[in-house]
Amino acid sequence: MQKSALKQPFSVYDHSLQIADSQRLDALYQKLAGETASFVGYPCNVRFDYSELYRFLGFSVNNLGDPFATSNFRINTHEFEREVLERFAEFFRAPKDQFWGYVTNGGTEGNMYGLYLARELHPQGIVYYSEDTHYSVAKIIHVLGVRSIMIRSRENGEMDTDDLRETIRIHRDAPPIVFANIGTTMKGAVDNIAEIKKLMRELAVPQYYLHSDAALSGMILPFVDKPQPFDFADGVDSISVSGHKLIGSPVPCGVVIAKKNNVQRIGRAIEYVGAMDTTINGSRNGIAPLFLWYALKRLGREGVKAIVDESLALAEYAIEAFGKKGIPAWRNENSITVVFPRPKEEVMKKWQIAPYREIAHIITLPHVTREVIDRLAEEIAQP
Ligand SMILES: *Cc1c(COP(=O)(O)O)cnc(C)c1O
Repeated sequence: MQKSALKQPFSVYDHSLQIADSQRLDALYQKLAGETASFVGYPCNVRFDYSELYRFLGFSVNNLGDPFATSNFRINTHEFEREVLERFAEFFRAPKDQFWGYVTNGGTEGNMYGLYLARELHPQGIVYYSEDTHYSVAKIIHVLGVRSIMIRSRENGEMDTDDLRETIRIHRDAPPIVFANIGTTMKGAVDNIAEIKKLMRELAVPQYYLHSDAALSGMILPFVDKPQPFDFADGVDSISVSGHKLIGSPVPCGVVIAKKNNVQRIGRAIEYVGAMDTTINGSRNGIAPLFLWYALKRLGREGVKAIVDESLALAEYAIEAFGKKGIPAWRNENSITVVFPRPKEEVMKKWQIAPYREIAHIITLPHVTREVIDRLAEEIAQP
């Protein structure tokens, strides 16, 4: 009986799905569409249209290896990835031709890359990060096996630089690696890079490393009138940003940008593993760079700024609308994360709102319309 099966030309797609399985897919589609309609609690822009790119899903695209190097595996989008990196390097005011980076699987991978680079440069370094840091960073520190110290946060969510100063003072023998939050996950707070640099000077720290975790705000601050310092011109060494957050993408993705000379300094160590194996992952998503390229081409700088402007206007609207209902809502400067007291369980469940202890937040990306905000305020205010 096996014989007759073997006679057929080989194909694993001889059969279509059974009806019940097709129905499950339809049900999943309906569920995802429904959940997307009331999505206010996470910082992901769900308004995008990449349908022009669907034909590229017919290829086994893989961007493995360094986007700036040639590869034997040529079903890739490295050329488009490099253009995406150039755009982000401009947004982050990286010195022209003096940066390196790649499109990651998300902000987490970019943070891991930044801390990996920092540890290679300063093997005896200590990572300082605030209490309000994204939960994934403790795991990254554990994986990298690097020393670390958690620093207190202020009420608004930013790093307490007095605590940082005192802590660095008593660990003067180890180069500081500061993991700065550029928009904390819960409160959208921005750690004070200017103050951090100042205290390094005051303490006469000879060498240190600054990484910006700009998962969401990395795509906000380059487009506002008065941004808090966070980028290369402000003196940081690497920046990680998520692609599926402010820009929006059907697959999680992100970008990491670092200084080329730092990356080259650790290059030798990498050569043991294999030429130009510079990225954390081996096989890499080749579709995500195409999505980002497409979004940036269609939006242009003005389009991204329009998303940012609208999101900030919605944040302001939300604070007023909540206030009118007696809900004390607030936000940090240049932040689209609106913070308010933890609401009832049923409201959080319906709107996919993520709480943290006594607070909760919404992220006012453009799909969170004024009508949605009004309805939400109404429901939260109901006793
Ligand atoms: C979302 C977020 C991350 C993680 O980014 P992913 O893209 O989900 O991997 C890291 N830091 C901050 C501040 C975030 O908000």
